[in-house]
Amino acid sequence: MESVHDYQLQQNLLITFLFLAIFTGWRTFYARIKRSLSQVTVVIIGGGPVGLLSAFLTLKSGRATNIVVYEERNRKSVLNAQYQLTFDCQSVEFLKAAGIDFDNIEGCRHDNCFTTKVGVFLEYILDYLTVSGVNVSIRFHKKVTNKYFSL
Ligand SMILES: Cc1cc2nc3c(=O)[nH]c(=O)nc-3n(C[C@H](O)[C@H](O)[C@H](O)COP(=O)(O)OP(=O)(O)OC[C@H]3O[C@@H](n4cnc5c(N)ncnc54)[C@H](O)[C@@H]3O)c2cc1C
Repeated sequence: MESVHDYQLQQNLLITFLFLAIFTGWRTFYARIKRSLSQVTVVIIGGGPVGLLSAFLTLKSGRATNIVVYEERNRKSVLNAQYQLTFDCQSVEFLKAAGIDFDNIEGCRHDNCFTTKVGVFLEYILDYLTVSGVNVSIRFHKKVTNKYFSL
């Protein structure tokens, strides 16, 4: 009598476990499908180091379908920016892990920091974004003003 009871208990546990596994699996699967079908456009204002790095990291996240960067200066003046940009060692490590190949950027290293010209760095990122295959649009000579927002 007791063994029949144990058997029923085991069966109930098994059914509950299977039900939970199917439910969790289905929810995960559904969330993935939903995410892959959703269209996400990320708009970034400013094509300086922070703006273009944001575009780069957004691209790397694989979550955006479209990335649009508005930059008020023209491409030439962005790429001709001669002032310096220094990444401390933590930023270098973080960006290396994200896919930035510092060995392919003209600049100098010192104490694990990396210094380059802003224009050089931006050109590297722009090249990367252009060949990525994701829909990335860099709109130079477009200043974002209040008229862009319908509040
Ligand atoms: C002369 C000089 C020397 C420097 N030397 C060093 C150094 O030795 N080491 C170092 O680490 N850092 C240095 N810096 C600082 C470094 O260059 C900045 O920290 C860096 O450029 C900041 O990047 P950012 O993207 O935040 O801003 P920015 O480089 O200012 O980029 C912002 C961009 O947004 C665009 N923008 C702004 N508003 C709008 C709008 N409404 N619509 C569209 N586009 C818009 C601007 O045109 C600009 O291109 C120096 C800076 C200067 C100016």
